[in-house]
Amino acid sequence: MYCQYITDVSSITTLSLDLRQRLAAKGWQIGRPLIAKAFQSTDGTERYLVQCQPTDSALVGVPAPPGGPGTVETVWMPEGDDGEAGDGTGDGTGDGKDWRRATICVSSQVGCAVNCQFCLTAKLGLQRNLTAGEIAGQVVAVLDRQAVRVGRDRVNLVFMGMGEPFLNYDNFMAAVRLLVHQVGLSPQRMTVSTSGIVPGIQRFANEPPDVRPKLAISLNAPNDKIRAEIMPINRKWPIAEVIDAVSSIALRPHERITFEYVLLGGVTDRPKHARELAHLVRRTGLPAKVNLIAWNPGPGIAYEMPNTESVEGFKRTLAEEGIPVYLRQPRGRDIFAACGQLKRTVEG
Ligand code: SF4
Repeated sequence: MYCQYITDVSSITTLSLDLRQRLAAKGWQIGRPLIAKAFQSTDGTERYLVQCQPTDSALVGVPAPPGGPGTVETVWMPEGDDGEAGDGTGDGTGDGKDWRRATICVSSQVGCAVNCQFCLTAKLGLQRNLTAGEIAGQVVAVLDRQAVRVGRDRVNLVFMGMGEPFLNYDNFMAAVRLLVHQVGLSPQRMTVSTSGIVPGIQRFANEPPDVRPKLAISLNAPNDKIRAEIMPINRKWPIAEVIDAVSSIALRPHERITFEYVLLGGVTDRPKHARELAHLVRRTGLPAKVNLIAWNPGPGIAYEMPNTESVEGFKRTLAEEGIPVYLRQPRGRDIFAACGQLKRTVEG
């Protein structure tokens, strides 16, 4: 299932024909999520509506996860979105493919409870947690579709799709272990993003390095006042508590913590915010970099995109302050696949 991308019991040739026939006759299926719909962007990005739970019949022998519809969205970005730039993982070649590297953005929950004010997924609320198999299975379904050969092709995973991974911690980490041990992907090619769930970060700090992805903090504001307005979770765990928890992680050589920062026009994109952010990042004392994301618009969300000058100015100010800074390329905006836009087809 995980290495040969098998989707049918009858294809498991390591089992005898007789056993395969008996399993099939009893209704056993392989429960890999299905790509029910694919949306193609002009920039090569593909957004998938992934059906995690069969609609026709429950899997035999596998208890159905409780409640809610079972669809999420997963995104394939050939050439990535520069999110991993500057994190020490280098560059690679795709060996005959028309992409040299690719990033898969993976969902961890159906919907999300965190309620970040700039995010479309938040509008769904939390519908249910994904199981470990559903999280890892999204990746396998995309690897299969793109004919990826693990070990030859360079593929990065970002757990930045729908949901807050640290509010589904056990399933998320079980999925990472499946992806490392069964699929063969390196945890150093994986990044998990959290909105700042302090107990989750504390648990994460104790994970062994051979299964611990890199960490990104979805910061998005230079101080607690603005952050609490755009991310209500900050009232529970303010910035200082989040930084304190992150400090307890034993980073690998050359590893950096990423601070994700969504630029909201007029709200978080001013030069004074950049200077305040630089001060904050320096004060953490952590090896860190900042990933800037120009906010992607969504219906029903009353923020504005930052203009090009303020994005460039923000980036320049951070660089002048000595902070490593990268601008994430918006991928798949035309198909609502970009950061903060995942929801449309799930809601139907
Ligand atoms: S940005 Fe992430 S954590 Fe915040 S509401 Fe959206 S999916 Fe949830």
